Amino acid sequence: MDDEGVANAAEGPFPAAVLAMPRSGIRVIMEAASGMEDCLHLEVGEPDFPTPEPIVEAACRAARAGFTRYTPSAGLLTLREALVEKLRAHNGITATPDQIVVTPGAVTACYSALLATVSPGDEVLVPEPGWPNYVMQVTLLGATPVYYPLDPARGYQPDMDALRALVTPRTRLIITNSPANPTGAVFTDRTARSLVEFAAQHRLVVLSDEIYEDITFDRPHISLAALGSEAAVVTVSGFSKTYAMTGWRLGYAVAPPAIATLIKKLQEPLVSCASAISQKAAEAALTLPRADITAMVAAYRRRRDAALAIFQRHGVAVRQPAGTFYMLVEVGDSLADSTTLALALLREEHVAVAPGVTFGPRCGNLMRLALAASQADVEEGCARICRFLERSSTRERDHAIHGA
Ligand code: PMP
Repeated sequence: MDDEGVANAAEGPFPAAVLAMPRSGIRVIMEAASGMEDCLHLEVGEPDFPTPEPIVEAACRAARAGFTRYTPSAGLLTLREALVEKLRAHNGITATPDQIVVTPGAVTACYSALLATVSPGDEVLVPEPGWPNYVMQVTLLGATPVYYPLDPARGYQPDMDALRALVTPRTRLIITNSPANPTGAVFTDRTARSLVEFAAQHRLVVLSDEIYEDITFDRPHISLAALGSEAAVVTVSGFSKTYAMTGWRLGYAVAPPAIATLIKKLQEPLVSCASAISQKAAEAALTLPRADITAMVAAYRRRRDAALAIFQRHGVAVRQPAGTFYMLVEVGDSLADSTTLALALLREEHVAVAPGVTFGPRCGNLMRLALAASQADVEEGCARICRFLERSSTRERDHAIHGA
């Protein structure tokens, strides 16, 4: 404020949508964990593997060969052609290069897809528990996120009756995510088919986030756009998880032509284009032997199995994730909220996890582990979590009995 009480422009007013946007609860834990030397990090959702060498080499070659400029806004045609083939062979999706827009990370593909289809005041169905960025993005657009529940008792598969009950005349889009962060659930064939049928029936756009498509253990991934339904499906995926390329920032959206045209149009004001060097790296990634990917997936599976065995031995409730490198631990109806609990776990046992509330307001009884650390760290982390939970449940019992 100046002397006359007039607010300085640097102090606002700021847009309501930005102020309303929730902050990621994982950051709170990351900040508290920074500088804690012996901390086991199970909070951050990114592969611990280095990017495979042939991809790094291809990027170096591309930089030297002059791929250091803007590319067409939808992405290099060579990459989009390679993606057409990948979508055909791996996803069962038939698309032309014009239906693909290459973006800086899948996160931008999600945002552009929403921007292209959702108007302020519209309602968007988002999964709970779900990746917090969905709610942030919908909020930024001035639209209303409406959570649909994913029940652990149903293996975190969406309940179609619950979904139908949430549809209003303002509902425009449903966000789906399989394999899912944070639940690790992978859609069954039945769920996948019911979802596209539901969307077609209610004329909803489907934003199908399939970024974890290659990390599955117990059943194959199904691309919703491959199911030949009437539904308008925008498929989002990228290179961050499959190829351990989070820092390269490369994702893409595949959409029906009218939506793809709008997503492409949005590239110019938002990002102009994705990084040329990363696009050449992505081309190399698509030629990587499948064995290089399955080796990483096998490591995630070993960690999952080790974590499951430890929790089962200690009677801690967890569902077996069918994919991704996440696992949700059910911590019961604790007296403490999930952030307080995660901070206590960090303080007492030096293990960082994501608090449940990050994934939705009704997820306070959960903690998410990212099994993207070495097998030894995963095992040690799970053992410490069990010790912590045993101690805190004793404490809570005492508290309940003695009010202490
Ligand atoms: N979708 C989900 C469900 C994710 O968990 C993430 C990354 N945490 C993304 C999208 C974004 O990935 P990218 O690095 O490609 O932006």
